[in-house]
Amino acid sequence: MITVNEHYYKLKASYLFSDIAERVKNYSNADPDREIIRLGIGDVTSPLPRACIEAFHKAVDEMADEATFRGYGPEQGYAFLREKIAKNDFQDRGISISPDEIIVSDGAKCDTGNIQELFSDTITIAIPDPVYPVYVDTNVMAGRTGANADGRYQGLVYLESTAANGFVPALPSAKVDLIYLCFPNNPTGATATKDQLKEWVDYARENKALILFDAAYESFIRDDSLPHSIFEIEGADEVAVEFRSFSKNAGFTGTRCAYTVVPKKCRGFKQNGEAVEMLPLWLRRQSTKFNGVSYPIQRAAEAVYTEAGRRQVRELTDYYLKNAALILEKMTGLGYTCTGGRNSPYIWIKSDMDSWDLFDLLLQKAGVVCTPGSGFGTCGESYIRISAFNSHANVEKAMQRISEASV
Ligand SMILES: *Cc1c(COP(=O)(O)O)cnc(C)c1O
Repeated sequence: MITVNEHYYKLKASYLFSDIAERVKNYSNADPDREIIRLGIGDVTSPLPRACIEAFHKAVDEMADEATFRGYGPEQGYAFLREKIAKNDFQDRGISISPDEIIVSDGAKCDTGNIQELFSDTITIAIPDPVYPVYVDTNVMAGRTGANADGRYQGLVYLESTAANGFVPALPSAKVDLIYLCFPNNPTGATATKDQLKEWVDYARENKALILFDAAYESFIRDDSLPHSIFEIEGADEVAVEFRSFSKNAGFTGTRCAYTVVPKKCRGFKQNGEAVEMLPLWLRRQSTKFNGVSYPIQRAAEAVYTEAGRRQVRELTDYYLKNAALILEKMTGLGYTCTGGRNSPYIWIKSDMDSWDLFDLLLQKAGVVCTPGSGFGTCGESYIRISAFNSHANVEKAMQRISEASV
């Protein structure tokens, strides 16, 4: 008998974005002429930077010529890309990360989802609430949780991000072994200071824990005092793994390129207490199950680090940040309490209503799609997330309509 992995049945039946799509479809069926403005799903809307497109085209042409054709590349990623990443994203900021501590992949979603394979079944896991659902669901699938009761899985430790703590969770009272953190945060848009990250790094060092730090929105940071990488914190290289992506800075959501940083000093432990390096484990996992990102895409990603590429990525993120500033200003002006929107493309908005009620109200009265906060966790109840990923014209129109509807 071919028995299935029944842990899958513990996953919450509905997926947030399919629920949203369903309600939007019903709305547009009822009023087909009404134009809908989508500020819901966190996908970029602008085309790839010019520099990336040029490098991409050139590399495609190389693949057409016998003299320059390439087959399988190095599983860890081409050295030309890993060297640029190490220099520009880390060494130039005074962080000592070398190219062999960088592993290129086809997405931070896969990496944050796959890395749990490296850990035993018995670890205690701390998950932020609200959260990017990938961290939770991949551990549920692996059987590291109990059933879901009232929106929370048994066996997980939830790190509550609320207005009271400025959406940066406090250290848990229970002892945990694996900690997921994401700053600038999706969905709240909150950022963490160096002192706040240092508390987590110190905790991990004292408790032999490991931090998985998702920095997918690093390029939206404009406040110079905020850390861009957890490795800006002393000692973090022993207790943290960092995830980066070209999706949100350079618009690679449909192109697919990301990377994970596992410092050589980063350690885990065997059951008998012996310390072991995490880097060989991740390399072994990737080289066994993954055959690398395509050559033209790695060339396109490399172009992010040229002078023109850097300027164009800055223009792209500035463009979305201008939208975020407008959303923040307008929603605050309407009397809502908002977080994020400054060093982040997301604005997290508190209301007196149920999340889905406000979602429906904005859809019905303004034709604007947002994301109900409750879909990201218990602590998201009565919040909505508005995303800045759209054109200026659409964001202006959406804010105009919400103002006029006076919701
Ligand atoms: C968008 C996003 C990513 C990036 O995922 P890719 O697979 O690289 O596109 C990672 N983490 C969070 C929290 C995100 O919102």
